[in-house]
Amino acid sequence: MSSTYSNRQFDLAREQLVSLLRGKGITDAQVLDAIAAVPRHEFIQEVFRHRAYEDSALPISCQQTISQPYTVAFMTQLLQAKRGDKVLEIGTGSGYQACILAEMGVRVFTIERHFDLLETARVHFETLGYNIASRVGDGSIGWSQFAPYQGIIVTAGAPDVPPSLLRQLADGGRLVIPVGDQTTQNMVVVERQGDEFVHTKNAGFKFVPLLGKEGWRS
Ligand code: SAM
Repeated sequence: MSSTYSNRQFDLAREQLVSLLRGKGITDAQVLDAIAAVPRHEFIQEVFRHRAYEDSALPISCQQTISQPYTVAFMTQLLQAKRGDKVLEIGTGSGYQACILAEMGVRVFTIERHFDLLETARVHFETLGYNIASRVGDGSIGWSQFAPYQGIIVTAGAPDVPPSLLRQLADGGRLVIPVGDQTTQNMVVVERQGDEFVHTKNAGFKFVPLLGKEGWRS
């Protein structure tokens, strides 16, 4: 693919990505439809744009990454968010994951610690027509102003589940978060049932660190 790749070619590449994700076990039609609809190439720097529909993480600015499409799909499927749910995302990065959720009809709140990344993500939200609330800050302590959330998705690797995020989860809500050391993490799902928090551990992933008060100390 060259940088002069046409929109039609991107559309075809995106369809192939959706088939690949289906083959890797993503079954949620809402998630697959959102991946089919959101133009991932728009979130990727020109130099890497020809790789936008490979199933791989790619560099964005501030030494961060846009997550691998399989990871985005897997986490979104685990979240089980429904149209109209309020979902908090920690780690806006490129803004792609937030747009996937918004495309599914979710009310998205997203926090990023790098101002420059958030500024660029906001341009994408605006250009693509997604209404997403966002702010710069330490997402390891959540965004209490709009809590509780039916879903919380953390797209950076944490040493433990931040207690503030548990407090901001609605009854019946789900928190999806990679937890482990700074090399690999297990994808943990915490489901709130009243005052009980039921933890389930899934396969291993590799994320950039969640830095902050209830994450890794920078
Ligand atoms: N969801 C992003 C996307 O769709 O492009 C990918 C996120 S990237 C793997 C992880 C992001 O988490 C980085 O942009 C990083 O700056 C951010 N991050 C790390 N610690 C954070 C914190 N405490 N609060 C907010 N953002 C944080």
